[in-house]
Amino acid sequence: MRLSSLLFLITCLLGSLNARAQPSTHFIDTCADPNDETLFANSACYVDPSYEPGKKIGKAAGYNPPMCIQGASLSDSEKGILKAAHKLAPDYMKARLCGLTFHDCDANGKNCFQLFVIRNSSTPSASWGFWEANDLCGSGGCTTPQGRKQAIGLGVFIAISESLLNGGISSIVDLENKLAGQLLRATGNPRALQFFKSPTTMPELATLDALAHELGHVLLADTDADGFFMDHPRNVLRGVTGPGNDCFGSKLLNASWSKTEFINTKPLRAERWIDFAKNKGDTRTKNQFDWSAYGNVTNGEYTKVIDKISKLYARKDFVSLWAALRPEEDFVETYKYKVLIDKMPVPLTVNFGGADIDVLDFIRNSPAQDLKNKLQCLNDLGLTR
Ligand SMILES: [Zn+2]
Repeated sequence: MRLSSLLFLITCLLGSLNARAQPSTHFIDTCADPNDETLFANSACYVDPSYEPGKKIGKAAGYNPPMCIQGASLSDSEKGILKAAHKLAPDYMKARLCGLTFHDCDANGKNCFQLFVIRNSSTPSASWGFWEANDLCGSGGCTTPQGRKQAIGLGVFIAISESLLNGGISSIVDLENKLAGQLLRATGNPRALQFFKSPTTMPELATLDALAHELGHVLLADTDADGFFMDHPRNVLRGVTGPGNDCFGSKLLNASWSKTEFINTKPLRAERWIDFAKNKGDTRTKNQFDWSAYGNVTNGEYTKVIDKISKLYARKDFVSLWAALRPEEDFVETYKYKVLIDKMPVPLTVNFGGADIDVLDFIRNSPAQDLKNKLQCLNDLGLTR
């Protein structure tokens, strides 16, 4: 073969690789200024409680997109916490928040809302992120609801629990301890599980934490990161062959999980909605966190539970207990902690009976190779730069 023919062939091969269909983003709307925290805080409204995202996946019949409760607005102090949280967020996160789907726009289409708050919610784990797919469009096609600019099937939404804004949750320590207690099905928020220690002020950090977690879920779907195998239902809906970068499979799963089991376990691989604390991952992690800790909590054996959690932190391959629950939460929590290590102005410490450990410090400075690979995956997908 002549060299020119060979080069032509190579060019064609590269061309066909590049032609792989890339998922297009649902972050289509654009706020007036991604750096304007007042604009962001004013874009929040209470979500109509009739919207239950977890029950809507793939059910076009009777789908009503999320809307604001009319005539109710957040208090100034609640907006103040949202402002402070937004001000702390890194630019890459602000850019995504700015691209959340406009809804409840006024008649001129000028003033819209972009963030939901779950009114009177006392449970931070009630927060959700939702990536709206076109299987919600129905037989009449994908129509554009009143007050929106994007048709059904193109929405990206976040809703956070009002407890993060009204004093129900007082700090990121309060939030993380409550979540850990719920993950371990601890009733009564036992003191022995309160291993997060500081800071116990700055409620805006808890809000930033929750926003980053839910945004992480939406970004997982938007990048199609977990759709790296051909027959993921989202690929079929989007007409794509997978994510632009398959690092969820090649980096994240290979680091801490069993890729084969993730792909071959049918109920797991197709999951597009994940209920809080839904595990199923026990058998799939290589370096297992021992979720039999549920039983220890029930039996009041807190020393055993704390020992298990402290071993997880000592390995430095997961950013958190929540991350060790299942691969999707690993991705989402790694994103959340990337946000925190980039912008949190003080250490986030845990303590298992010895010296305080700054979680942010180990992620920044001494993560295990597995965790480095997960952070690299977020970067490869363009989410943290
Ligand atoms: Zn989650």
